Amino acid sequence: MQLTNRSKVVSNKKMSFAEKLYLPAIVKGLAITMSHFFRKPATISYPEEKRYIAPVWRGKHVLKRDANGAENCTACGLCAVACPAEAITMTAAERKPGEEHLYREEKYAAVYEINMLRCIFCGLCEEACPKEAIFLTPELVPTYLNREEFIYGKDKLVEPIDKRVDITQRQKHLVEKKQ
Ligand code: SF4
Ligand code: SF4
Repeated sequence: MQLTNRSKVVSNKKMSFAEKLYLPAIVKGLAITMSHFFRKPATISYPEEKRYIAPVWRGKHVLKRDANGAENCTACGLCAVACPAEAITMTAAERKPGEEHLYREEKYAAVYEINMLRCIFCGLCEEACPKEAIFLTPELVPTYLNREEFIYGKDKLVEPIDKRVDITQRQKHLVEKKQ
């Protein structure tokens, strides 16, 4: 039974002199190559050119601070439990008197790390967080030459006090999408 029309009958005809020198095959290959010169390129000159990124794009994480600059994260571990890639690890510590301006709750994450090589940017950590502490931003995770640099600690995750990370745009689109 014939399933497709793609089967070919093998020909035993003798090759011409030109065919023996592969000339028709070379010309055919060059024609295909030349035809690509006139097509719109599929690549872009990154980083000078940037592709459009959807407003709900899930990129690098940020650990947010509250209005007074204290870290929101209370090291409850729910994001780590929700993470399907087991990319999040943390060490909790107790806030000491006088540190109220640094940490919002009595418990905080002394160490908080995300392995960006494991992360699949699913956003489940963001959804699991009860303290509005972790959000994904539209920022891309850059490439590095060694694996250690992909382990993002608090130095890379907690937003700087004087340079807050705006997450409202992405959240606005998410809310609109749900409605
Ligand atoms: S985005 Fe998904 S995979 Fe990445 S850290 Fe959060 S829960 Fe884990
Ligand atoms: S980021 Fe949120 S869910 Fe994760 S440990 Fe901190 S408070 Fe808990």
